[in-house]
Amino acid sequence: MAVSRREFLQGGAVAAALALSGKKAEAAVDSPLMRTKGLKSSTTICPFCAVGCGLVVHTKGGKVVNIEGDTEHPINQGALCSKGSALFQVANNERRLQKVMYRAPGSDKFVEKSWDWAMERISEKMKETRDRTFKAKEINKKDSKEYLVNRTEGMAFLGGAGLDNEECYLWSKFARSMGVANLEHQARI
Ligand code: SF4
Repeated sequence: MAVSRREFLQGGAVAAALALSGKKAEAAVDSPLMRTKGLKSSTTICPFCAVGCGLVVHTKGGKVVNIEGDTEHPINQGALCSKGSALFQVANNERRLQKVMYRAPGSDKFVEKSWDWAMERISEKMKETRDRTFKAKEINKKDSKEYLVNRTEGMAFLGGAGLDNEECYLWSKFARSMGVANLEHQARI
């Protein structure tokens, strides 16, 4: 009978540990089955790169207690790279920022701000930058002719590997509608 990697880890490795150590109770508590028993499990996608590996997230009382590869997912079939394997540390990390922190120009201190304040501030800055740097026409250096360009080079848009197809489409449409010519992907930087 073929034994999958998951079945081996759940059964074979535990049995081997019991046989070798003789510490039945301790080994059983360490098994993956015992660790996630009775917990709520939800499936999601790793946010780190465009491979889009499937994850199973186990929670208890709304708190993430375990994240592992989804064996049912067609892309990764349970496997994760080292970044994906460490996702648990992203969810549970006392150093993770969960509020907007703002440092004013010239200041040496960060102060806490609301999300509404941040959105307002970003919108104002984008509008101000676009209005100040927008060019309708430009002379081409090669042929010295004037061309219609309708663009701003005063800001750039940066996409991320966590975006799906539809989000990428909307992101690039939004950038182009603003006249942004410099649109890049985080993985190329
Ligand atoms: S687990 Fe690794 S390979 Fe898979 S999506 Fe996340 S970062 Fe990419």
